[in-house]
Amino acid sequence: MASQSDAKSYPLETTTEAELRALSQALWRWHECPAARGSGPGCEAACPWPRHPRLAQFHALYRQLAASYVPDMDYGRSPALRHHGDLFDIIKSLKAQPDVSRTQLMSQYFDTRQAANDSGGEEMPTPEDQERAFSLAARVMTTVACSGEDAASAVLELGTEPVPWRGETSISQFLLAAFPLANTLSLASLPGSRRNQDVRLFLSAETITKIGHLRLQPTDDIRSHLNLDSKSKAVQIYQQTALLKEHLRATEHLADTATIAETIQVGNIPRQLALEVLDSLNSILFPPMTKSHGILRALVSKGVFDRDMLQLESRDVRHRHEVEGEYRYLASKLRDLYDEVENPTPRGRFERWFERRIAQRYFMMATFGGLVVAIILGILGLAVGIFQAWVAYQQWKFPVGGS
Ligand SMILES: [Zn+2]
Repeated sequence: MASQSDAKSYPLETTTEAELRALSQALWRWHECPAARGSGPGCEAACPWPRHPRLAQFHALYRQLAASYVPDMDYGRSPALRHHGDLFDIIKSLKAQPDVSRTQLMSQYFDTRQAANDSGGEEMPTPEDQERAFSLAARVMTTVACSGEDAASAVLELGTEPVPWRGETSISQFLLAAFPLANTLSLASLPGSRRNQDVRLFLSAETITKIGHLRLQPTDDIRSHLNLDSKSKAVQIYQQTALLKEHLRATEHLADTATIAETIQVGNIPRQLALEVLDSLNSILFPPMTKSHGILRALVSKGVFDRDMLQLESRDVRHRHEVEGEYRYLASKLRDLYDEVENPTPRGRFERWFERRIAQRYFMMATFGGLVVAIILGILGLAVGIFQAWVAYQQWKFPVGGS
């Protein structure tokens, strides 16, 4: 009995292996594989399924996101997501029509479902619940936390500022707003006229942790990658690298002129963004054969970061002309990080307090010093006055050469 009511309040609480396979099919149209191991009758030559276990970190994220879905429990209404299949259907409809507004897609999807369903008199989900379902679908596709008009869905874990996804905008427009393109940052153009190689050394994990005194913290939100919290002295590092490589594989045959909508149809996030995140990890933060890579290995073995981050080589999923070193999406974050290492903001509460107080203290010291000098001068003046009075008294009492 209890399990039945749980199933109603958390309909996606558990995720089976078959549902994870259906997720891969929804995101990248992986084929129905009869062999499921990449060989056997009916299996394609380049079967993606052997790569499925490498997505373990993404699967963990999916399980967590799905389990946190709570529908509106209005009597007589069906939840927006009754099972994982509903979520996959929404993902597929977002990918099929990336330029249609969220409101339009929502009514299209739920109207069709209502019409097709012999729902036994169950009413449509509440508009808030529908929004929640679409926000969850967008988050699974892009790993960007988003919020609809529903304020409750904006309450997210600490430090993650959700991107608003307004009803009249499409998922393409949502992604464009989430990742505004800055002016291209070529590593060679950073201040200090340092050469490319020096800049790389300057932003390596070794320099960042030892000279910048920053901690490296894993994040599952791609928008938080390289975010710097100068108060807690931490840099967020996106750890869903296996997922990035899948996005890149899926968009491998896209033309360079492909629009964001065409990208979403096959791969879900901008190809350039996926490349930049991988490059920032592989050739800036943790270059192979360096002490920085040793730092990464240590963090992976401690279980802080996903094991897949040790294999960041993207040569097999990169076009020949996609050269590493030009950053458009991550430009401003790399600049901020560079500035922080070069000129660190005070660390910790005490240091910040001290920094603030020190100015006040100098002022106090100057005032106090002046007061002490004034008192000393006053005392000296008084002493001189007393001495003069005493001399005058002596002269009056015992006049020199007097009678
Ligand atoms: Zn296969």
